[in-house]
Amino acid sequence: MPDYDVSAALDTDYYAAFEDLPAEDRAHWDRARAFSDEALPRMNEYWDRAEYPLHLVKRMGELNLLADGIGVPGLEPMSPLAAGLVNMEISRCDGSLGTVVAVQGGLALRSIAFHGSEEQKERWLGPLARGEELGSFALTEPDHGSDSVSLETTARRDGDEWVLDGEKKWIGNGASGGITVVWARDEEGSVRGFLVPQDTPGYEAEVIEGKGSLRAIHQARIRLQGARIPAENVLPGAKTFKDTSKVLVATRLGVAWSALGHATAAYEAAVTYAGQRVQFGKPLAKFQLVQDRLSQMLAELTSMQLHCVHLARLDAEGRMRPTQASMAKYHNTRKARFIASTARDLLGGNGILLENHVVRHMMDIESIHTYEGTESVQALLIGRDVTGVGAFA
Ligand SMILES: Cc1cc2nc3c(=O)[nH]c(=O)nc-3n(C[C@H](O)[C@H](O)[C@H](O)COP(=O)(O)OP(=O)(O)OC[C@H]3O[C@@H](n4cnc5c(N)ncnc54)[C@H](O)[C@@H]3O)c2cc1C
Repeated sequence: MPDYDVSAALDTDYYAAFEDLPAEDRAHWDRARAFSDEALPRMNEYWDRAEYPLHLVKRMGELNLLADGIGVPGLEPMSPLAAGLVNMEISRCDGSLGTVVAVQGGLALRSIAFHGSEEQKERWLGPLARGEELGSFALTEPDHGSDSVSLETTARRDGDEWVLDGEKKWIGNGASGGITVVWARDEEGSVRGFLVPQDTPGYEAEVIEGKGSLRAIHQARIRLQGARIPAENVLPGAKTFKDTSKVLVATRLGVAWSALGHATAAYEAAVTYAGQRVQFGKPLAKFQLVQDRLSQMLAELTSMQLHCVHLARLDAEGRMRPTQASMAKYHNTRKARFIASTARDLLGGNGILLENHVVRHMMDIESIHTYEGTESVQALLIGRDVTGVGAFA
């Protein structure tokens, strides 16, 4: 048994940002909370063993927690705010599970919803949203991360088939069975999306071992060697890299919400711990320096909440600009890092124990700080917007 129990949700909402939520949005959040309560007790174990709990992916699908705000026939619709709250809540529980939502719903499902044919949508949206099939999104390559626009994977038309060759790295769900949306360059040089079943001959994937972050989800390194797929597996709506970017932009705000979930878990653990841990004859909470650190964390957490809630409103009104989502991601993953490391420090030695959760969140934030565009890439996008000058290369 742990010496301290710091895992309880405190529902921190200092500026009442989540008061008066519409009942439908609150219902989605409540469902995500019930799932988190169910999943949390075993997440440290999965993380420690680097085990991907696929049954929890299925469970999230059963509870309609995977769709990330995308309308899927037969499933209760989710507003941008509800999708954000779900992202936040699942990441408050665990970052690997939050990343499942980002990959399965945010990227794979969204690619098909945005760019798929009616038949592709009919075939894939329901099963992916319900967690009956696994989906992945393969853009990054070993030699092209931030400059994924320069991807080298090729797609060659051969009669009724496309033939894919190349390598991908870091692909969530890429070696877990299911379907991979592979982004590749056709013979005209255009980037297009292809639905590649993972049992396609020539699709070889191995799980990346030795991660110190997001240890309870598997990412893959993929080799495509003459992988042949039928012509109808191309996404007809994705014709250039701009179409790929549309998917990424839409999921960027989700990452900001995930960062908020991680930071909430870390801050709340620190508050609880400060009330329980006694040093020099009194609880840590009674020391002025500790109160200052809690105030700093709360101020940052509150600013993160405001970024998310305000942008969810703009998104719902169809007014969110891509660089605003960049700004939310840029701000929130930075602040989440600060909050998690401050909380870790406030827990002293106990802060590095998985049983107190903070160190798992702290490590997991490192991945979300990097994926879907690093901090520097977001800064470059914002910088280009405000100056009118691109400074990427
Ligand atoms: C856990 C995890 C899961 C992921 N899941 C997926 C997935 O499912 N699908 C997928 O396609 N990809 C995925 N990715 C890949 C992710 O999107 C890339 O890691 C990310 O885009 C950064 O690329 P990179 O790691 O190659 O870093 P690099 O691009 O090599 O960057 C290294 C450093 O250089 C900086 N840098 C790069 N260019 C510039 C510049 N022009 N100016 C200033 N600084 C610069 C970066 O900010 C960074 O700090 C995942 C990554 C991780 C870690």
